[in-house]
Amino acid sequence: MKEKALMSVLVMNVLHNQLNVVPACLPTPNPSSPNFSSRFRADVVQLVEASNVHKHSDTCYKYWNANRGDKKSCRMRMPRKLVPVSTIDPDTGRISMKRSDPWINNFNEYLITACRSNMDIKFIWSGSDAKALVYYITDYVTKMSLSFHDTLALVQKSISSFNNSYDQTNNESVIEKSRKLVLRCYNTLASQQELSGVQVASYLMNWDDHYTTHKFQGLYLIQTERYLQTQLNEIRSKQKMDLSLHGQYFIFLFSRLIIATLKKLL
Ligand SMILES: [Zn+2]
Repeated sequence: MKEKALMSVLVMNVLHNQLNVVPACLPTPNPSSPNFSSRFRADVVQLVEASNVHKHSDTCYKYWNANRGDKKSCRMRMPRKLVPVSTIDPDTGRISMKRSDPWINNFNEYLITACRSNMDIKFIWSGSDAKALVYYITDYVTKMSLSFHDTLALVQKSISSFNNSYDQTNNESVIEKSRKLVLRCYNTLASQQELSGVQVASYLMNWDDHYTTHKFQGLYLIQTERYLQTQLNEIRSKQKMDLSLHGQYFIFLFSRLIIATLKKLL
């Protein structure tokens, strides 16, 4: 057992010194590599120490109101009480999981080595918890990174600051002014836009941002409509011409018939 722990520390030091990169960027240990269990353990320790230790931030006190006389306490309930051993209370059914550090968020070792980011895992016991979770996830994945009213306010701010920075006597061309205004708006929005690491990597790698089961072809509706209209007009005018030709031929035959009849009669 001692030997195993020592090995973990050694592997951890080697990993850290050799690469000197943030643990999140290190590869997940390969299960078929030698000493996998030690490497795995070292990896978990590194990841947790680097990214899963809670530090209070403004979000911890998001709902705290000093004027209301609220007690200033972290809404993530940190630091938490230490629990020497995991226990189940047979009367209430309450489970207390072992906790050896008051500041570490709950994690699953396999998930954290696979995802390589911070996490806070929770067992979903009840229906109301499950409902709240579904709401939370749906809200999270469907939220726009920048809301529409925020966008308008930011654009308004850019336009005001743009107007202030230009004096009326400036004789720059309208096109150049417009270009600068659009650029200013774009920069303001881009600086406020939240982009996930995955999104950035995907754009940089020129990968698609969506997946479909079928291959689609763009259809230029206006041009197609115009083409069909032209074809239709051509066909119609041709038909009209044919009709009038037929008409002329008919008149010609009719007049020949009249002449022949007249000739016979006379
Ligand atoms: Zn906190």
